[in-house]
Amino acid sequence: MEEKRNYIIFFDLDSTVASENTLLHISSIINNNKFNMDYIYDMKTSWIDTSSYIFKTITDSGKSIEDMKEKYKTLPLTKGFPELFDFLRKFRNKESNINIEVVLLTGANQIICDWTVEIFKLDDIIDEVVTYKTKIIDNTVQVLPFHEHKCPDCEIGLCKEQAIHELIEKRKDIKYEGMFFAGDGDNDYCAGLGISKYNLKAKNTLFARKDYMLHDMLILKDGKTKTDLCQKLNCNLEIWEDGFEIMKYLEKEFTI
Ligand SMILES: [Zn+2]
Repeated sequence: MEEKRNYIIFFDLDSTVASENTLLHISSIINNNKFNMDYIYDMKTSWIDTSSYIFKTITDSGKSIEDMKEKYKTLPLTKGFPELFDFLRKFRNKESNINIEVVLLTGANQIICDWTVEIFKLDDIIDEVVTYKTKIIDNTVQVLPFHEHKCPDCEIGLCKEQAIHELIEKRKDIKYEGMFFAGDGDNDYCAGLGISKYNLKAKNTLFARKDYMLHDMLILKDGKTKTDLCQKLNCNLEIWEDGFEIMKYLEKEFTI
């Protein structure tokens, strides 16, 4: 039998798999419109503290963790992602000569990732979740670091470059033909650096969502000029607007 070709794809969650920021969506369960991205940036606390604070504020307003989960069910996946997951499912059988691992690598947090897998029935497609840990304390969710790192650009508790490195180290005996990361945020730049380190037979690809922060960091407003940050990436850069575009790209890669 023909040897399988190994690939790995990492997905961010907030505004990538899920159509908006998951915790902000959940926070809309309370009559409080102060939580928005601008407010969060102005808080200037770490994402761990900010997300723990949002969970606590929801709890203090009388909502349970179960209420939060119910609210989360109303957040749709980004356009084309259900189809993209179905596409990836096609390779989950013995006959396929493509083996693709799927990893959720996100600054959301463990409880929200667990809900994502359960609610959207992704347990057969997500092989691993890498995110901030969570603990339930006093009926609310406390967010904790995933690991320690020294990256100056990342939030305390999770650097996606280091997370990719740690994950690939554990799979040393697998020879990947391609690594992909799909995201939207400024913290996904480190993930791009992470996959850039593994310059494999087929080139790796960073998917940056059009008109979101990662895209704006890498491509100037004229749409052509790449920034210095972009030059430092040693991987392909693809701009995406929906899951269908990522699917088409992968389809081509797999048929080469
Ligand atoms: Zn980093």
